[in-house]
Amino acid sequence: MDEDGQYLYHPLENIEDVDLFYEAVERNHLTKAISPERPYTYWTIELYDQKNGIRGGGGLGVLAADTRRIAEKMDVPFALITPFYPYETHQVVENGLMRDEHISVDYKKFGFNFVDTVNIKCCGNLCRLDVIEKRFKNTRIIAITEPNFGELYSGMSGSDHRLYQEVALGFGGYAALKLLGLKPAIMQLNEVATFFAALARLDELVKNGMDFYEAVVYTRKHTLYTNHTLVQAAEAEFSYDQFEKYVFPNLYSPALKKWLSDKFTDGHIKLSSATIEIAELRSGVSKLHTRVANYRDIAGERIKFKPITNGIDMDNWVLPEILEFYKKSEIIDEINLPTGSYIEKLDKNLTADVVHELKSTGRKVMNEILKKYPDHNGKILHFGDDDFIFCFKRRFVDYKRPDLPFRDLQRLRNVLEPRNAHYILSGRVHTGDEVMNQKLQKLLEAIKSDDYLNGHVHYIPDYNEELAYGLSVGSNAAINVPIVGLEACGTSWMKDMANLNFLISTHDGGVADASLNSYLNISGDNESEELNMLYQRMEEALAANQNDFDLETIIKQQLAAYLPVISGSRMLKDYLDYLFPA
Ligand SMILES: *Cc1c(COP(=O)(O)O)cnc(C)c1O
Repeated sequence: MDEDGQYLYHPLENIEDVDLFYEAVERNHLTKAISPERPYTYWTIELYDQKNGIRGGGGLGVLAADTRRIAEKMDVPFALITPFYPYETHQVVENGLMRDEHISVDYKKFGFNFVDTVNIKCCGNLCRLDVIEKRFKNTRIIAITEPNFGELYSGMSGSDHRLYQEVALGFGGYAALKLLGLKPAIMQLNEVATFFAALARLDELVKNGMDFYEAVVYTRKHTLYTNHTLVQAAEAEFSYDQFEKYVFPNLYSPALKKWLSDKFTDGHIKLSSATIEIAELRSGVSKLHTRVANYRDIAGERIKFKPITNGIDMDNWVLPEILEFYKKSEIIDEINLPTGSYIEKLDKNLTADVVHELKSTGRKVMNEILKKYPDHNGKILHFGDDDFIFCFKRRFVDYKRPDLPFRDLQRLRNVLEPRNAHYILSGRVHTGDEVMNQKLQKLLEAIKSDDYLNGHVHYIPDYNEELAYGLSVGSNAAINVPIVGLEACGTSWMKDMANLNFLISTHDGGVADASLNSYLNISGDNESEELNMLYQRMEEALAANQNDFDLETIIKQQLAAYLPVISGSRMLKDYLDYLFPA
């Protein structure tokens, strides 16, 4: 209890962690054994898991949902801790203009159970947070919420409300674990917005009698910071004043307050600087990302990240018939890991006929899904087996260059028209990103001005998981053109490759894990060279689709190079090997 006579958070019933620590120190190694009571804990400010009523913003949230599902399949005791936002944003088109619509969501409709409340301190008040939970075998989602929690990424990233949400997840989430009788074997901090969870643990160890510096050592050994961003400079800062209101009141240890205060420069803190100090284990999300991510510790030393490339939950993203083909042909095993002989098996079993047949099944599934999602003209799209579809589906942010193929409309028309091909675009603009909103609007107007393109380029609003799935199983070629060096990993191209689509891509993010000869690569010294190559590659894909030998060769090459990358089971295995070395 604190001086107000209120529980700050539910205290440990004993000091087991502390005893464990001293025991381990004597044996000169720190234990991190995993069990149902000591699960792998995964902290994320965003979860994208529509089936469980939680809509995220993009890749970070999809990855979190995939990771939990894979842990469930691999029987890894796993707790995912995240906020439940009571409102979510949808993109609607009205009179040809996009706008956001806010819809309230009720966790009870998605099978979450109310556990209890926990309190944190904010601006001199006690804030009561609801803890809700949903279990799936050995894994669970624990969520923190309250009616005024707000929306995901609402407001500016350095705002009071964001800090409140992050503090609520960290301190509230840690208290929720205690409430449920769980102690983390490991804390994976998915980006720095989850920093406060590790801070809460450190504080609790001190509160329970551990020497401060030893508590720092203990927390560091058990915390993994997974970085998904490339530039530290772009990160928002919080001020000391903001910390006085939201963070310090939740800390018991004066030594910890001092430690944290030392992380400020000129009255401001970047959470990454503090996260680097609290986590000895650090990972990045692709090989290229770990090479280019430029993060410095307080002393100015460059931080090394262990490359663990993101993967996808293939059960969730791959057409069941395609997955069955992979399994029956012994290309992947029962937990979706590529087999030792997967390249031979691909070579033997993957024929152009198989590809055409499976893509035809995927096309039907996509058509069904598209009935729910009219395009920007309000039209329901339906495609025949012979229609070739290029698809760009991902968030509309500048560095992903959704408008690249539209720089030369005549050239685009020359690519599509001879084979009567279509181009589908889907992706939401981040709320408040006026530059991208304008670009999207201009793009749609440009398409309307050309009678061929107007019937063959389709924008589908309100991009979500279901569209991501439908478009992956039903199109033929994915366009992925981030400016090289700016994509940390990207996962939507993995969904396409696994569903037997051609990948037309720049060599960036996770795509750069393998050789640039293994897919339809776009390179160039400048954007106009890249653009030229993009149109060439689109023509190549169209031609290859008509030529069995070329089709087989390209799809086999892609899968031979990337199936191990794509496999989310490989990703979780990589994390387990890194965190719990034999
Ligand atoms: C897969 C997916 C993403 C991630 O896409 P990136 O390639 O990482 O940009 C984002 N949003 C949705 C809805 C997805 O399904």
